[in-house]
Amino acid sequence: MEKELEKLEAEAKEFLSNLEETSQIEDFRVRFLGRKGQFSTIMRSLGSVPAEDKPRLGQLANTIKAEIEQLFEEKTKDLQSQSAHLGKKNLPDLTLPGRRPAQGTLHPVTQVMQETCSIFESLGFSVAEGPDVEVDYYNFEALNIPAHHPARDMHDTFYVSDSVLLRTHTSPMQARVMEAQDPPLRVIAPGKVYRCDSDITHTPMFHQVEGVLVDKNISFADLKGILTVFTQKMFEKDLPLRFRPSFFPFTEPSAEVDIACVMCNGVGCRVCKKTGWLEILGSGMIDPEVFKMVGYDPKVYSGFAFGLGIERIAMLKYGIDDIRLFYENDQRFLSQF
Ligand SMILES: [Zn+2]
Repeated sequence: MEKELEKLEAEAKEFLSNLEETSQIEDFRVRFLGRKGQFSTIMRSLGSVPAEDKPRLGQLANTIKAEIEQLFEEKTKDLQSQSAHLGKKNLPDLTLPGRRPAQGTLHPVTQVMQETCSIFESLGFSVAEGPDVEVDYYNFEALNIPAHHPARDMHDTFYVSDSVLLRTHTSPMQARVMEAQDPPLRVIAPGKVYRCDSDITHTPMFHQVEGVLVDKNISFADLKGILTVFTQKMFEKDLPLRFRPSFFPFTEPSAEVDIACVMCNGVGCRVCKKTGWLEILGSGMIDPEVFKMVGYDPKVYSGFAFGLGIERIAMLKYGIDDIRLFYENDQRFLSQF
């Protein structure tokens, strides 16, 4: 019995020292330490040894078994940490979170365009869209700008042919909408416009929103009210408005509208060129001549129109000083919005 135990000890130790793969761990446990393993078999045979040898042999068997169990435990740990280490080297770690693709956001110009539309929609305006390639008639003639009118010089027009051009403003939609609908109407027309012009505050293509409201008894006060609500909502500030007399062929009287500088609150800074005011849009009461061309009776109806530049508003809202940043598609710029 003693010899058997010693033999088993040696056998188990050798097996352990040759154990190299985690898959063999279970083999060893079953063969030596399991309920039907060799240690259990020897322990059971203790019953048949002489009574005086029992305590000594029993103790010896337990000591050897405990030693083997401890060696086995250490070996198991070793192998497991080794294989975990190898796993890290050779296999992807499936518990790592996946890489998310960078998610795009709406372009700041699109955001301001959508916000502008939703503010005017909340004021009862509907949205109409028109063609980017426009005929001379709607871009100029119907807006009281006949051929050879000096106002055409201000537009730096891209001509497709003598009578077809890329629209230089969204105002053609005034004429198109009024031709198609009878008053009362309140419509905004957002879209791209084109002018042959490029510098720090101009790009050859930019975005405008045109607004038209026609009804009985519409006055300049209504125009001021609508634009006040718009600027308050857009800039989230109660900014004073200033109307400066101006000239547009299709409105009379006409006014350019300034807001108190959003950067310095009217104190005077670099952005507002020390004036405390920023120009944001052009507006006026629709000229009776325009009404006549679309068949409205200027004695019954009156109305106003305004046109605002989306890039201009986005620049003021976000404090951007170069319009070209909007079109360079630099992700570092775009991802800030
Ligand atoms: Zn300022």
